[in-house]
Amino acid sequence: MTELIGKRVNVLDKGWIELQDMMGNDLAIVNAARVSFMGESKGDEQDKKLLFYLLRHRHTSPFEQVEFKFRVRAPVLVWWQWARHRMWHYNAQSGRYVPFEEDDFYVPDVWRKQSKSNKQASEGEIDPAGAGELSRELLAHYEQGFKLYQRALQAGVAKEQARLFLPGFSIYYTWVAKTDAHNLMHFLSLRAAPDAQFEIRQYAQAIYEHFFCPALPWTAEAFEKYILKAE
Ligand SMILES: Cc1cc2nc3c(=O)[nH]c(=O)nc-3n(C[C@H](O)[C@H](O)[C@H](O)COP(=O)(O)OP(=O)(O)OC[C@H]3O[C@@H](n4cnc5c(N)ncnc54)[C@H](O)[C@@H]3O)c2cc1C
Repeated sequence: MTELIGKRVNVLDKGWIELQDMMGNDLAIVNAARVSFMGESKGDEQDKKLLFYLLRHRHTSPFEQVEFKFRVRAPVLVWWQWARHRMWHYNAQSGRYVPFEEDDFYVPDVWRKQSKSNKQASEGEIDPAGAGELSRELLAHYEQGFKLYQRALQAGVAKEQARLFLPGFSIYYTWVAKTDAHNLMHFLSLRAAPDAQFEIRQYAQAIYEHFFCPALPWTAEAFEKYILKAE
């Protein structure tokens, strides 16, 4: 799967996700399971059958033998949700070291309406006439926040404190995030689902389509069959 390493996919207006490194493939999962009886690959047909058996019966530890390490640029509102996944390992850009740039803010394409049936969710879009005005106000708000941030830096305030002037949920941060295939499937089943927030869903779908499926085609097929479609 070396061709996937270094591949970068754009997400949202200024975000991206890049596969920095990975270890293992479908066969590594099968071989990990076969160590139980000191065996190895028995050819594609039997190997794939065993992998499907493992996922169907939630024999999940062999899937932990495959690892994915991503470098991701996403707004804080996405990180706020992503970081709840405790079985990932993270390192993050520090706003105490690195000053923020003027265009480091997320600007949505559309303004979604509050859902009537789910207090957490959104549905549809607001009237496009009002949407243009909201987007202009958001940009003016970012500009004002960034000006105040720069003013504080110029006055000698430390970066760690000057950032109080920046709109917190919208700012883009870059993280390195690593997990294994078992926990990645758990993340995808929650964060690519229709009730997940649109923004994190874009990252989950990008991982699924551009990295998970090509890297682990048998696992992806079994995951669709026994987890996504079974739930
Ligand atoms: C649509 C949606 C809405 C949400 N809304 C809210 C909300 O309003 N407020 C809020 O606080 N959170 C919310 N969450 C976050 C949610 O509660 C979980 O924290 C998050 O989805 C991570 O799931 P997890 O704990 O299963 O995953 P992980 O932390 O990645 O853990 C994976 C699995 O490992 C096991 N595990 C990990 N750590 C432990 C541990 N310490 N003890 C025992 N088992 C462990 C569990 O089996 C867990 O399922 C929401 C999530 C979703 C998807």
